[in-house]
Amino acid sequence: MSDSALRLVWIYPDLLSTYGDRGNVLVVERRARQRGLDVQRIDVRSDQPVPTSGDIYLIGGGEDRPQRLAGERLRQDPGLARAVDNGAIVFAVCAGYQILGHEFIDDRGQRTPGLGLLDVWSTRGEGARNVGDILAEPDPRLGLPSLTGFENHQGITHLGQGVSPLAQVSVGGGNGTGDGTEGAWRDTVFGTYLHGPIMARNPAVADLLIKLALDVNALPPVDNTWYDALRAERIAAAQQPA
Ligand code: GLN
Repeated sequence: MSDSALRLVWIYPDLLSTYGDRGNVLVVERRARQRGLDVQRIDVRSDQPVPTSGDIYLIGGGEDRPQRLAGERLRQDPGLARAVDNGAIVFAVCAGYQILGHEFIDDRGQRTPGLGLLDVWSTRGEGARNVGDILAEPDPRLGLPSLTGFENHQGITHLGQGVSPLAQVSVGGGNGTGDGTEGAWRDTVFGTYLHGPIMARNPAVADLLIKLALDVNALPPVDNTWYDALRAERIAAAQQPA
């Protein structure tokens, strides 16, 4: 970590916060504070520069037009790429995930370049939109329990050689490629289709980001009663026959 406070950057709450994504910021912030960390939260609107000195960057989901606007602005701003070069952690959901890749389809049906921070690219699914509860088993290297989330996307994301799937779905569409993969990650950059918000349903993901930022293997335990109740409810819902 660059200085004493954990610098938590939320990119574009004005464009990419359609699906309760603020919850992810709140959960990461709270769980860091519960471990006695000072947290400096920096909300970056789309007319502001992305700081390069953050520790953790969160990017949320959005509808197709705000996604295009966010992609255009982030492409003109070197801040996030510089932060990644410096080893910052990035966690992006859905539209944010697509923007991190090489390209996505925008609201006008055009192929639009992304940031190329993850070796993935997104196309537009021809079939039904992927909507609903999702259950996925994470890459064992991440040390996470089963992931629960809610997906809502038309885009399909294809993974290149430079990334690993974040998880394999047992329920839901995930990347939508039909191979059961969900999300992608490399080093400290993560993308997922899981809303929820994902941190509220999977506090271990928030803890993973904090551990990466602190460069530690474990954190003091905190009370997970509320999270566990939500997890149990949503996992049961996902397992209901459609
Ligand atoms: N607009 C994108 C899609 O439909 C992302 C949607 C989202 O962020 N939930 O694929």
